[in-house]
Amino acid sequence: MTTLNTFSGSAASLSQFDPQALPVSAAQAIVLQWVTPLAGSERVPLREALARVLAVDVISPIDVPAHDNSAMDGYAFDSGALAQAAQDGALTLTIAGKAFAGHPYLGDVARGACVRIMTGAPMPAGCDTVVPQERVTLDQTGESASIRFSARASSPGANRRRRGEDLARGGVALRAGRELRASDIGLLASLGLVEVEVKRRLRVAFFSTGDELRSPGEPLDAGCIYDSNRYTLGAMLRRLNVEAIDLGMVRDEPDALAATLKQAAASADVVLTSGGVSVGEADFTRTQLQTLGDVTFWGLAMRPGRPLAFGRIWSGGHPGAGRPALLFGLPGNPVATMVSFYQIVRPALIAMSGATPQPVPLIPARCEAPIKKRAGRTEFQRGVAERDARGQWRVTPTGSQSSGALSTMSEANCFIVLAHESADLDAGDAVDVMLFDGLV
Ligand code: AMP
Ligand code: MG
Repeated sequence: MTTLNTFSGSAASLSQFDPQALPVSAAQAIVLQWVTPLAGSERVPLREALARVLAVDVISPIDVPAHDNSAMDGYAFDSGALAQAAQDGALTLTIAGKAFAGHPYLGDVARGACVRIMTGAPMPAGCDTVVPQERVTLDQTGESASIRFSARASSPGANRRRRGEDLARGGVALRAGRELRASDIGLLASLGLVEVEVKRRLRVAFFSTGDELRSPGEPLDAGCIYDSNRYTLGAMLRRLNVEAIDLGMVRDEPDALAATLKQAAASADVVLTSGGVSVGEADFTRTQLQTLGDVTFWGLAMRPGRPLAFGRIWSGGHPGAGRPALLFGLPGNPVATMVSFYQIVRPALIAMSGATPQPVPLIPARCEAPIKKRAGRTEFQRGVAERDARGQWRVTPTGSQSSGALSTMSEANCFIVLAHESADLDAGDAVDVMLFDGLV
């Protein structure tokens, strides 16, 4: 499995590239150089900690498990007895008592004796081995009971879980920067913790621009379209578990845009806009960003998603005034908005949230159809990937690759990632795919 070829961070200097058409890997590296992880943290109850980012290392206050215990339902005994097996290799042990999970056997276990033990019960003193009940023959004569089993059915230390085997007291159970998963929540519970220190949530303000936009629920006037990007962005942000601040739709008017951008910078760590970053006559986002902030680059050598503004804006109206926020001016075309979000914005938001970045895996697949591709830009085509009968991945591009056709994103289950330098592909050629599952 490979990961998306990333540009070496230290070498990522903008001056090497055309800021109107930056290679994707360079843009990713430059964006990450601008990111500072959040400083603030808060304590949250364990049940609310899923997908939050650990602010500090969690040190285990106890051994887990807290005592040696049985991994099976069976009989616990001292493995020294194995050496005393009879000529036929069999061993007979009398049953001295019972141990249940939560109810230890506290008596002595004499030589030649064993303890009936259930899974999870503490190992009785002097016992280090458990023979599973399926491997023994039980003899009940009057009051006394014994077991008989082959010495080959067991070995010293078998079926015993050691104290501290899962986590040792004083050891690091989970590291700062960990995005908490279901298993982590359980692991923290196994340490007896009720709360955990996590990073505060990243605040991300977003709005869409365009005189043509109408909100779902409104009548659609002539020449207008419904604003889908704000819904896509809101949903993608929700998946990232950030605090999303929806600032609505803004008309293509420089003053209205400036006011909303300033408001966004005042209230959020990151600002996302959709539309208006191209070079059309109503593309005022672009001109306003030049006044309110310092833009680092304007476009990517990427398809879909060529226009993309990245930099900072200031709540005070010009660089250095008031509060800065990181700014991503995303293209208006709905698929371009999504691709830019996943490839450029998402890694930045994850790093800013304080999480340790996890590269998204790429899976090699055979492409089932020819693909037209121009060298000199990275393309993210929509595809449907599946495993064939031999277990090999194959991928079929969805028909239209138009950057406006949101239906193809819904139809697809992966991006076909076509590297910057690659050119046209024939059917049967090898490509890399990035599965949506886990990413979106
Ligand atoms: P722009 O980047 O503003 O030039 O927009 C490019 C294309 O995307 C145009 O066809 C717009 O109508 C469309 N578009 C812009 N914003 C949105 C939005 N919020 N929802 C759906 N389509 C949009
Ligand atoms: Mg527009």
